Order: sequence, then structure tokens, then C-alpha cells
Amino acid sequence: MNYISTRGQAPALDFEEVLLTGLAPDGGLYVPESLPQFDEAELKELARLPYNELALRIMLPFVGDSIAEAELRTMIDDSYAGFRHPAVAPLVQLGHNEWLLELFHGPTLAFKDFALQLLGRLLDFVLTRRGERAVVMGATSGDTGSAAIQGCQHCSSLDLFILHPHQRVSEVQRRQMTTVLADNVHNLAVQGNFDDCQAMVKDSFADQSFLPEGRRLIAVNSINWARIMAQIVYYFYSGLALGAAGRPVSFSVPTGNFGDIYAGYLASRMGLPVERLIIATNANDILHRLLEQNRYARQDLQHTLSPSMDIVVSSNFERLLFDVHGRDGAAIAELMARFQQGEVTLDPQAFERIQQCFDSASCGDAATVATIAEVWRESEYLLDPHSAIGVYAGRHCRRSPGQVLITLATAHPAKFAEAVIQAGYPEQPPLPAHMGALMEREERFEVVANDLAAVQQFMARHITA
Ligand SMILES: *Cc1c(COP(=O)(O)O)cnc(C)c1O
Repeated sequence: MNYISTRGQAPALDFEEVLLTGLAPDGGLYVPESLPQFDEAELKELARLPYNELALRIMLPFVGDSIAEAELRTMIDDSYAGFRHPAVAPLVQLGHNEWLLELFHGPTLAFKDFALQLLGRLLDFVLTRRGERAVVMGATSGDTGSAAIQGCQHCSSLDLFILHPHQRVSEVQRRQMTTVLADNVHNLAVQGNFDDCQAMVKDSFADQSFLPEGRRLIAVNSINWARIMAQIVYYFYSGLALGAAGRPVSFSVPTGNFGDIYAGYLASRMGLPVERLIIATNANDILHRLLEQNRYARQDLQHTLSPSMDIVVSSNFERLLFDVHGRDGAAIAELMARFQQGEVTLDPQAFERIQQCFDSASCGDAATVATIAEVWRESEYLLDPHSAIGVYAGRHCRRSPGQVLITLATAHPAKFAEAVIQAGYPEQPPLPAHMGALMEREERFEVVANDLAAVQQFMARHITA
């Protein structure tokens, strides 16, 4: 399988190369040249498979010749062995034809574990085979950093440096990062905000002279193709479990960078019968505003009760734009250049193609809290704020009671206690029993000045020779 850039000016790569690459050199994002297709008979067969077996069948065509089947199978088994539910991604019923897909049974209690558990193993496998080492660097406001650390801590060919804003992540999120004491894991608590951390990562990718000669720098943010690939699986798994081989299902997806819901879009393009994909945003609703008005325009960042969806622009949306513009890289390069200058309107045909698949809703903090309270009243099920936005949008956009609706529950409520308590829940929602010791475990992190040179000097000192 080959991967091409959404801006049409970069060389095509195979899976191994795309795994080790972030943005394409022309500024675009890599997408598969074609998609594997599953027909009705194959879907019926896939519907019988346990999660790991299904994951193997879905991912093999994307991996192509880069990794042998037996080795990919082992990595998948290892990735999901640490999930605390035998179904890996269980469905819970909320109402008539209304389901939640619980994606928070992994080690950091959020859906990012699905992709990052596998990504760490894939990277370690290909780097070891090449006899190379690499440095992973990332900025986090919480979920991505902890999932990356949990996914990469056993990877002997990687040194991992995760920057978080000092004293600005929740205690649970911090401890999920800082209690991993592996020698190759380094937590830097930067005396600044998340944007400062992100800017330092960006600058480090632009000028890599602080790294040892020949050492590769790898990003683990959601523009990495392997993350998207791993997320396609649970759309098939849940859709087929609810009979999608015979009747289409709809998904409501709490959306930030558009990585997760883009995976759902790909599942539908691969043959999974999907009726609607619902983009659920918080007050940072650039995508909802686009769908309402065909106006793609930035707005200032708002800090919400669902911080993992606080974005200004959804980086993966370019991958969808590429498709709805007939995969014309020149058109996307031109569109993104105009967007850099201000706002853009899509051509009517491209906009219509988006409307054919997607609905959207924007859910502010008040509605988020009200939804947590409503669902608790109805069924004594405690939602986290991100999942609550998904439920709100699903109920808002639902077209008929016959529509089978699956909302992705992207995090465990114990991770985001503030919203839950605002919704009237009487206490700090308890962590799952297996995480009970988190609050007592030893922590290790380095507080560093909000200064690029200081961060890079720390890294240079700690990168394995
Ligand atoms: C990252 C995250 C999201 C948003 O996912 P995207 O792929 O960026 O759209 C939603 N909910 C939670 C809990 C997250 O951690």
C-alpha cells in the first residue's frame, strides 16, 4: 500500500516510511492511495471475529509488505492485552437504538490508548529492524501525552520527551505520565502554557541540530497515519455487532482534531454501512460552523470543560477535504494557502459531498453539564464531558427513532471530575480499581524554564547514546 500527500507535491511512501514521518514535505498529510473494500459476505464474516482478529483483518491491507502478518498479530495482541474489558471496546445500551461505545478501558482511560499502544510497538519494531534509534517529542494538555508514555515505555529504540504545562494538567493526568519511571521516558513540566509547549515542539522539528547526528525525531500527534488506521477498527467492531451488515448505523463522535471521526469516515468508505457521521464539538466549533454556513473560519481558542477537544483548527480535516475535492492535491494546496490568509468557502460540490455524510452540533459547557446530569437521571450512567458532548450531538441530530446511533465514549469520567461535579455528582468519581494506587505511586518529572534552549539541553543530556 502506498501513501500520498494531500497537497500532491511529495513522494509516495510505503507504510514503514509513513509510520516514521509526520507532515509530508509539501505541508500536506499522508493518506492511503486506495482503500481496501469489504463486501457484504466479508462483513458477515468479520462480524463474528473477536476484537484483535478483526483488527488484524482491517489493518493488514494498510500495512502491506512492511510487516509480516504473524508479527502484526503479536503487536495487536500485546497492544490490547492491557485493556481491562474482555471485549476491548464494549457497547452499552442507553436507550432504544441508542448505544455507547466505551473506548476508555485502556491504561490511561481514554480512547487514545487504542492508537498509541499500537503505534509504540510498530515504531519499535521497524526501528529495531533498521538498527536505528529515534526520539519521540510531544506536547500535551493531558490525554495524548499519557497515552504516548504508556504506549512507548517498553520500546527500547525510543527516547520519549513529553512536555506538559507545569501545574496546568489535572492530577490524574499528570500522575498517569509521571509515575512511569522507565529510563527512556522523560516528563518535562514547562513553566508556561500548552501553546508554549507546542511551539517548542514545532521549533524542534523545524531545527533538529540539537539531536545527535542522524537521530530521527518522531511526532505522535494524530496526523500520524498509523493512529488513524488503528481507530478504523472499532467502527467496524461496534457497527457489525449491531447488525450493520444488514442495516446501516450512525456514529456520534466527540471531535477535536478530526482524527477519530475521520477513521469512521474511512470505515464507511471501506464498505461498512454507515447512515450518518455526527461531528460533536464543544464551543471550539469551527467544523460545526462550516457545516451550517459553508464558511471555514478560525475563532479564538476557548477553554472548556472538555479540554481534549479545545482546538482552533482540526488538523485532520484536510484529509477529508482532499477526498471531497476529487483528491486534487493542487486544489488543496491552493485552498489551504487561502485559508492561511483568512477564511474560505468551499466549492458547492465539495460542500455537498460533506453534507452527504456528516451532521454536526456544537455543545457548550452548560449543555455538557446538563447532558451528564440528564443521562445520570435516566440511567445512572456517568458520562465524562467529552462523551456527553457526543450524546448531546447524537440526540440533537438524530433523524428518526429507527436510526441506530452509536456514540463514542472517549474517556472515563474519573479523568474529568470538574464537569461531573458541576453536574451534581456528589463526589470525586472513583478511579477504576486497577488504578487505585495511582495517587500513591512515586512520580518523576523535571520542571524546566519556558525556554527552548533549556528544553533542548535537557533532551541532549538524556538521549541514549
Ligand atoms: C483526543 C480526544 C478527543 C478528540 O479526538 P480527535 O481525534 O482529536 O477528534 C475526544 N475526547 C477525548 C477524551 C480525547 O482525549
